[in-house]
Amino acid sequence: MDVIIGKNCGFCAGVKYSILKAEEELENNNGHLDCLGEIIHNHQVISRLENLGLRIINSIDEAKNKVLIRAHGVSKDTYDLAQKQNIELIDLTCPKVLKIHKLVDSFSKNNYFIFLFGIKNHPETIGTISFCSDNSYIIETEEDIPQALDKLFKSNIKKVLIISQTTFSINLFNKLTQIISNSLDSSYDVHIENSICDATNSRQKETEEISSIVDLMIIIGGKNSSNTKKLYEISMKNCKNVLFIQTKNDLDLDYLKNFHKIGIMAGASTPGDIIQDIYDVCKSI
Ligand code: SF4
Repeated sequence: MDVIIGKNCGFCAGVKYSILKAEEELENNNGHLDCLGEIIHNHQVISRLENLGLRIINSIDEAKNKVLIRAHGVSKDTYDLAQKQNIELIDLTCPKVLKIHKLVDSFSKNNYFIFLFGIKNHPETIGTISFCSDNSYIIETEEDIPQALDKLFKSNIKKVLIISQTTFSINLFNKLTQIISNSLDSSYDVHIENSICDATNSRQKETEEISSIVDLMIIIGGKNSSNTKKLYEISMKNCKNVLFIQTKNDLDLDYLKNFHKIGIMAGASTPGDIIQDIYDVCKSI
């Protein structure tokens, strides 16, 4: 069996740092540590950290210990509430996400209208939009553009910032930017900030390349991971057979025997040993 595995598979720098830091803090605090939301979209990693004492909480009100803020970041309200209630935060928001928070905050203060490309209910998007003024709009798909433009026109603002969630699809970013730019006349000052993370870019590009030359593409990662879903969508466009799995237990060996060339790619929160296991199973056929 010919198996091609992506060089950009698995943990990104932001996720790696979060896990290392969580382990360090659990040790320093005798296993007493809360995390606001799942630290990464991977059940195995979460279970291992929970066994060391990590408690996943859904709201800052549930905090009983120091609270870890994961790489996606959180909304402004969370910081305000934590300060009000004297809750100590360990802020592991990825520096790339923090940079976006600072940018939208600064452009909002300079009276720009902000179009934020992102998944509307994704924690990173919810966090970022909270640093924008009301003169902003989240655009997830092309269908959102008419309403977004309507809000811009009613605001009478002539300065626009286009920015996105770090794991947004680069193809969609370019397409939406083009549509918006074509809809605005020369009286608008449009600033375009491609804030898609390099790790995401390289992973998407490689997925595009591999999925075009294999007869089965395997995408590994959590079903609720936005960046992994993007890899699946990209693969579906290029390859007739695509599997979206979490571990080697999801593989059907008889099914794999139907193919000659398999491609493997994994999202940013997939541990290396899970990827290796799946590679080994494919190679063994
Ligand atoms: S994908 Fe990029 S922005 Fe997101 S956590 Fe990883 S390194 Fe940071």
